[in-house]
Amino acid sequence: MDPYSSSPAVTIIGGGMVGTACGLALQERGLSVTIIDAGSERDKASFGNAGVISNGSIFPMASPGIWKQLLRYALNRDNGLRLRYGDLPFLAPWLLRFLANANTQRRENAVEALVPLTAQALSYHQKWAQRTNSEHLIRQEGWLRLYRSAEGFASSAADRQLFERHGVKFEVLDTQTLHELEPALQHPFHRALWLTETATVATPGELLAAYQQLFQQQGGRWVSDHVQQLHIAEGHVQLYGKQQHYKSQTVVLAAGALSTPLCQQLGYRIPMVAERGYHLSLPMPEDGPVLRRAVYDVAAGYVAAPMQDQLRLLSGVELAHPQSRANPIQLERLYPAAREALGLAPTMDSSQLWSGNRPSTPDSLPVLGFAPRHQQVLCAFGHGHIGFSTGPITGELIARLICREHLPVDIHPFRVDRF
Ligand SMILES: Cc1cc2nc3c(=O)[nH]c(=O)nc-3n(C[C@H](O)[C@H](O)[C@H](O)COP(=O)(O)OP(=O)(O)OC[C@H]3O[C@@H](n4cnc5c(N)ncnc54)[C@H](O)[C@@H]3O)c2cc1C
Repeated sequence: MDPYSSSPAVTIIGGGMVGTACGLALQERGLSVTIIDAGSERDKASFGNAGVISNGSIFPMASPGIWKQLLRYALNRDNGLRLRYGDLPFLAPWLLRFLANANTQRRENAVEALVPLTAQALSYHQKWAQRTNSEHLIRQEGWLRLYRSAEGFASSAADRQLFERHGVKFEVLDTQTLHELEPALQHPFHRALWLTETATVATPGELLAAYQQLFQQQGGRWVSDHVQQLHIAEGHVQLYGKQQHYKSQTVVLAAGALSTPLCQQLGYRIPMVAERGYHLSLPMPEDGPVLRRAVYDVAAGYVAAPMQDQLRLLSGVELAHPQSRANPIQLERLYPAAREALGLAPTMDSSQLWSGNRPSTPDSLPVLGFAPRHQQVLCAFGHGHIGFSTGPITGELIARLICREHLPVDIHPFRVDRF
């Protein structure tokens, strides 16, 4: 069916970390693969994220604790989560489902589902990093969750229990030990959790570019186009791009936060919104020690991640329509706390502002697997906060599904028709 090869052909829509990793895993099995990607490098969530690859990234966004904070969130008083009220008609159905997930049982179910993905995220990255000579981009120094008060630290008790239950290694650091480990932090944080098995990538865009390059060197076809329509025909799928039409035996939808309109054309309504995130690229402070690993200041609602030669300051979540305009208000609000803790410049320099969309489902689980009524189409999107790290394990799962191999992860919780 494929005009370019006689081997079974797969076309992947979207060339972020998820789509690219699917491409590599399919090539490894001898399949001929095309990736059609609409965006530039900076348009991808996979470019501007924090680069954290953690076996501890197992918590869904919806937690029972949300109910106590609901008013604060609704009034946009929390830097960690902002609601874009102009997008409320689009967000409302998702929000109702999201709140239905904010209970202990559903949270624990989501954790159970995510553990096998996040536990294998690093080893699959290491495999591709090795094949692309990019191992130097992956640092294994752990990452830190920072608590400003005893009350804040106490509120992490449930998370610590779940870490212990699922074998996620961490150490609790007091103010002095934290200072010795990370002298660049200028605020006397009350406690920190050091997730020792976490790796961070400096810089995510460079690692992704290395994987994309390998994909093309191995004969993968990369097409810049925007797929607007899908049509299931006899024995193949017809794709209508802005530039051209394409034909493929099998199609993988890996278009990140913009995947759902394509799904809807096939009759699958998947609730997904953008958990928008912003980052600023800042020069490393000139005097004194340099931050060695990514940190998450829980109360102030920012993540700071050292990149090759810059510091990346990242905001929390803005619930929004994926195509609504950027508004860096969260960064502006958190900047004073970050400045004090990290020794940043007195005023915020927004010239290097970036924003991107975490593709987010109400249960914080990705959507993975065959479209139930269309066995030529697979879904691979909705990874929320963990798509950069779990892209390669996702690629492996998608390739195994297509090649009818044994799956190392139970993907039932991620099925397309669960909503
Ligand atoms: C601020 C921030 C911090 C984050 N930190 C981390 C982190 O530390 N660790 C982690 O694991 N994850 C993190 N994430 C989440 C992670 O970045 C995403 O989950 C992941 O990058 C999603 O990858 P993707 O390939 O699905 O989507 P993307 O990287 O967005 O790629 C999707 C691609 O599909 C293309 N596309 C869309 N529609 C079409 C179409 N119709 N036709 C053709 N192409 C199309 C787009 O142009 C784009 O290139 C963070 C995200 C943000 C925003």
